[in-house]
Amino acid sequence: MDIVTFPHPGLRRPSKPLKRVDADLRRVIREMFDKMYEAKGIGLAANQVDLPLRLFIVNLEAKPGAGEELVFINPIISLPRGGSEEAEEGCLSLPGVYGQVVRPKQVRLNAYSLSGTEFEADLSGLMARCCQHELDHLDGVLFPDRMSPTARADIADDLDMFETEYASRRTTGEIPTDDQLAERWAQWESRYA
Ligand code: ZN
Repeated sequence: MDIVTFPHPGLRRPSKPLKRVDADLRRVIREMFDKMYEAKGIGLAANQVDLPLRLFIVNLEAKPGAGEELVFINPIISLPRGGSEEAEEGCLSLPGVYGQVVRPKQVRLNAYSLSGTEFEADLSGLMARCCQHELDHLDGVLFPDRMSPTARADIADDLDMFETEYASRRTTGEIPTDDQLAERWAQWESRYA
């Protein structure tokens, strides 16, 4: 399992709701936590490891044995319950790129836990921001899409660099073709979505 980087097509593809969880998927989720910690991240969406299912994980402490390991399955965020605020964001699929993003300060999130229990949480602060960022991933949205045009202009060169590198890795066959990706997604979806 590897964390995929922009502009991997899986990052632009809306993920399918998850219908079941089994031992294999639990192992995959465990591995997602390990990858996230390795990359020193606080959140990771399934499509960032090319898994086309609606789930993301969070641990605000970014390391094993500290903080709480949270799994959000089929998450839904409801309307903002307060103002908005601006803060800097980064993304494990855009390593080294940071930008200011305005988001609702407080959100209500409904999701299922790994054990299948439905839960509801009113979130604020970093947790609210992180969950909104991760849920965006599941809809194929990346944080630069939420930046102001002027702020985005500042990172345009970085994004171009990622595009160029991706194109060259694809020519060498290091990255699967669109057909191979589609086949892989179809396999996951037939099993879990
Ligand atoms: Zn991200």
